[in-house]
Amino acid sequence: MNSKKFKYVYGPVPSRRLGRSLGVNPIPLKTCNYSCVYCQLGRTLHLINERQEFFSKEDILDEIIEAVSLNKNKIDFITFVGEGEPTLNINLGWLIEMAKSKTGLPVAVITNGALLYDKGVREDLSKADVVLPSLDTVFEETFKRLNRPHKSITIDKVIDGQIRFREIYKGQIWLEIMLVKGLNDSEKELTELAQALKKIRPDRVYINVPIRPPAEPWAVPPDEEAIVRAHAILGNVVPITHPEQGEFDLEGFENPVEAIKSICRRHPMREDEIIETLKKRFEDIPDNFLDQLVKRGDLKRINYRGINFYLVPEIKRGVK
Ligand code: SF4
Repeated sequence: MNSKKFKYVYGPVPSRRLGRSLGVNPIPLKTCNYSCVYCQLGRTLHLINERQEFFSKEDILDEIIEAVSLNKNKIDFITFVGEGEPTLNINLGWLIEMAKSKTGLPVAVITNGALLYDKGVREDLSKADVVLPSLDTVFEETFKRLNRPHKSITIDKVIDGQIRFREIYKGQIWLEIMLVKGLNDSEKELTELAQALKKIRPDRVYINVPIRPPAEPWAVPPDEEAIVRAHAILGNVVPITHPEQGEFDLEGFENPVEAIKSICRRHPMREDEIIETLKKRFEDIPDNFLDQLVKRGDLKRINYRGINFYLVPEIKRGVK
């Protein structure tokens, strides 16, 4: 972008999920209806749950149009993503609609998904091409400890809203789960979450862990075993997507060892997934290929309920 100072718009920035993304922030800093322990913005300063105007919608739209015209052919998505919760902006539906019609570009919204219990928010978000909501738990007690919501929000309302949204929404839902050690990484948590996902029916699920400095220093990533467990339990009911590899595209790799280390770098992969992916790209993969890599210390094998998963030992953190 040129040197002009924009107030509401930034980028385009490379996003693993959305390509080149022009970010739009329609919300004042740290204004949210959650105060998640893992929030990279720190603790929420304005914990509200009432939708408001905050800023002139025309000013925001003007900036979007100008930024798009300055970055012709360099933007894949216009992405509403607040320094807080974007659905709290009451003009979000208008902004999505106008941004799409004035620029011709697809629009995504990254949201905590809490306000999807509100009909107006469901209608607003149904205008977007991709909605990326969060859901970290189905238990009220964990919800209060992990997401620390506004007092008018319960987890049952949130889940019900996300199910209702799926019923009316024709676009893509890419749901994100943030796993925090000791809070929502137990078998019980994940099994119940898997049941909720069956009803919400997201098109994709991303499992994430706090890798950036969180609001609370004790909000840390789960152990490797817990991350494997999450992939095994949730992956049984929904497709887990790994943002950093696209569709496990190995085209750029000449060597199967580097290829496989690359795709296991930040998340565990099942043995059958690895073999299938490798065979598409490389011929003559020996039967004991993974054994050799484990022996050499290139990969670590973790067995969860009879299924082998592989990780790169030195790096096991997820990415946003
Ligand atoms: S919902 Fe997002 S912005 Fe709000 S506190 Fe949680 S992580 Fe931060």
